[in-house]
Amino acid sequence: MTSIVMDDVSKYFDGGQTIANYRLTLEVADGEFLVFLGPSGCGKTTALRLIAGLEQPSKGEIYFGDERVDGWSPSSRNVAMVFQNYALYPHMTVAENIGYPLRVRGVPPDERDRKVEEVTTLLHIEDQVEKKPAALSGGQRQRVALARAIIREPSVFLLDEPLSNLDAKLRQEMRVELKRLQNELDITTVYVTHNQEEAMSMADRVVVMNQGTIQQVAPPQELYKRPRTAWVARFIGSPPMNLFEGTRRNGSIDFGEAGAVELDNVVRVGETGDETVGTEKSGAEDGSGATSVVASDVQGEVELGVRPEDLTISTSRPPAKNVIEGQVDTVEPLGEYVLVNVIVNDQLVNAKLADGTVSRDERVYLTFDDEDAYLYDENGELVG
Ligand code: ATP
Repeated sequence: MTSIVMDDVSKYFDGGQTIANYRLTLEVADGEFLVFLGPSGCGKTTALRLIAGLEQPSKGEIYFGDERVDGWSPSSRNVAMVFQNYALYPHMTVAENIGYPLRVRGVPPDERDRKVEEVTTLLHIEDQVEKKPAALSGGQRQRVALARAIIREPSVFLLDEPLSNLDAKLRQEMRVELKRLQNELDITTVYVTHNQEEAMSMADRVVVMNQGTIQQVAPPQELYKRPRTAWVARFIGSPPMNLFEGTRRNGSIDFGEAGAVELDNVVRVGETGDETVGTEKSGAEDGSGATSVVASDVQGEVELGVRPEDLTISTSRPPAKNVIEGQVDTVEPLGEYVLVNVIVNDQLVNAKLADGTVSRDERVYLTFDDEDAYLYDENGELVG
């Protein structure tokens, strides 16, 4: 087993014009399943290729265990890689494909056969070994590619969008399978994806990347519960967090020209001052305790975040203090929940509800608890 360290690693292309990775510092523990997650072009693949040795860092150092490996060739790092477009040899059987890396290393046939049997059993493709790749389904081919990658017993397993070519159902099955495989092999794994569900379901920790930099490194639940930047908050969750831009003055947040003047601890967004409610003093006095949002003394431009599932909706004005007034745009009954899109000022707000007893164009009141609110400062950093 091997831990991986990236120490202040940057990678530039085009003579410094393109910054693919900027000052990445990261440790992947022995046996950990780490996932790089981010939008297209954020530098995930480059980070993986740096670990693999397919690229060399422009700056910084990379370690496997105690050994500094930047400068080493991919083959001397003992990594196995699986990509989205894995190539199997069409003229070879499944067994021959899987055994190939051992054959080129001169491993004797007996031992090779034994190993092939071992990994094909592990991946549930032992019945397919005599077939040629053309006779396999997409999922089976992907299993063969995985088997071929792990048969060498690499110290690090690197996967770049390996499930992208599979249909949704198969992708989900393979997610479970990959996680099980990684658990059984206990092999340090770095996985790249732009698919949030994939990342959240498999990772021990997720590295969220944007524009070549690390935004946050955290276990999936923590990432969801405490997005450290407004960018992460907007990226994680389906639909993601609603963020309201406003100006914090003392205990209140002002949500724009059309919004009302805010009073202590009252969050209000509405078209006119008259239409907003909740002017009573609250917060620490209502028994809910001073929330972090209220307690934070950050002033000026802020963003207040509330997740769609933390909003409740009513058609009459509730006596609650955190009231956001808006107009229903669309109602989407999705089975498990109803997604209501509400226009608040000019912004579209998502609310996930158990049922959708509201209709298009109806005026509604969205409320939320203090403890479900997040506050981001003008730099997008979580402050409360
Ligand atoms: P995707 O999900 O689309 O594959 P990514 O997050 O994996 O994206 P990278 O492939 O790492 O992103 O690319 C990061 C940036 O570096 C991009 O702007 C890309 O165009 C650039 N880049 C990557 N490889 C090279 C290269 N060999 N030469 C020049 N620019 C490159």
